[in-house]
Amino acid sequence: MQAIHKNKSQGIYLDYAATTPASDRVLGEIQNYYRENFGNPSAMHLLGQKAQSALDEARSAVAEILGVSWQEIYFLPSATETINLVLRGYFNFHKKDIDAPHIITTNIEHSAVINTCRALEEEGARVTYLPVDKEGLVTAEQVKNALSRDTILVSIMYVNNEIGTVQPIREIASTIAEYKKETGDDKLKFHIDAVQATNYLDINAKNLGVDMMTLSGHKIYSVKGASVLYKNEKTTLEPIVTGGGQERGLHSGTENVPAIMAFAEALRETEEIKDEETERITVLRDKFINEVLDGTDKVLLNGSHSRRVPNNVNFCFKEKSSEALIPAFDAEDIYVSGGSACASRVPEPSHVISAIGREEFAKNAIRFTLGRQTKENDIERAIDITIKIANE
Ligand code: PLP
Repeated sequence: MQAIHKNKSQGIYLDYAATTPASDRVLGEIQNYYRENFGNPSAMHLLGQKAQSALDEARSAVAEILGVSWQEIYFLPSATETINLVLRGYFNFHKKDIDAPHIITTNIEHSAVINTCRALEEEGARVTYLPVDKEGLVTAEQVKNALSRDTILVSIMYVNNEIGTVQPIREIASTIAEYKKETGDDKLKFHIDAVQATNYLDINAKNLGVDMMTLSGHKIYSVKGASVLYKNEKTTLEPIVTGGGQERGLHSGTENVPAIMAFAEALRETEEIKDEETERITVLRDKFINEVLDGTDKVLLNGSHSRRVPNNVNFCFKEKSSEALIPAFDAEDIYVSGGSACASRVPEPSHVISAIGREEFAKNAIRFTLGRQTKENDIERAIDITIKIANE
């Protein structure tokens, strides 16, 4: 596995926040669901029943890790669809009884959240995009001050995909819980986009105190094609994809059984190695940040030092644009990103870099994200090349 990601022709992959390679353990798990156990879980015959019980097993495994019950777990094809279901599904559920349902989010969310919120504004929602500070943080106080009688949903990312800032999710959840207690307002719900947090942080939904949570398989060394929505039983969403009524009516369409089985296995594996990987990757990340900052004054670190996910490094290059930098790193066989994966093909200024007060460098950011195959010598080379490119 290691050789595949590190040989000369493949280079050094430092874009794990964009996607991860499927692990051997995950791939081993799914073969069988493409060939022998390929039945449609909705079919009544034995093969269908086998597929259904595999799904049940995956659902229970995921539920156990998130500290919730299996009835609260839904499988969808991608985190983008999960986020759409949460935002649109909860807005649609409330739009009959509230004139302009209010949603609170931040101005550094992933495009799946920001663009869906914008679309909902066209449909009559009122959306507050909370500004972040220079490290990319929002506070529970800001959320509290934005709450109103019409607020139906707070949706905040656990970890920012560009700069790796970790939001104070527990504090925000307690503030929301207090507000609900004081006002008796039970419609207010809290959703977190935990896509970039799953590999390294606590994802127990009960510990976090959230009503809904989104996870994505391809960010946790699984295959593409499966995401998870945790939704507690007190929260009702209107489905946005209707059809055969799969996923207890919440998301129709034949389930992608292999990808779902892969997801469950990937989540198990992630949990098993989380502590060890967190420790290992944090050391590499800090070495990367410190040695590059010591080696050149032509870059600035974006995001927080202390509240940062272990695998993220993001620098603004004072004199070079991401559009020029990505090919320069490519030429050295180092694969990095100019921001989020979705935006990086179109070199637009990053809304996240602008939001942390660095508008003038919004086109100059490079994100390096480390992962399971990243070794110390990869980081040493990446440090040398980063300094060289910055000083050129
Ligand atoms: N949310 C965050 C924070 C992400 O980083 C991504 C993917 O980059 C998504 C949502 C969307 O995930 P998916 O690719 O599963 O649709």
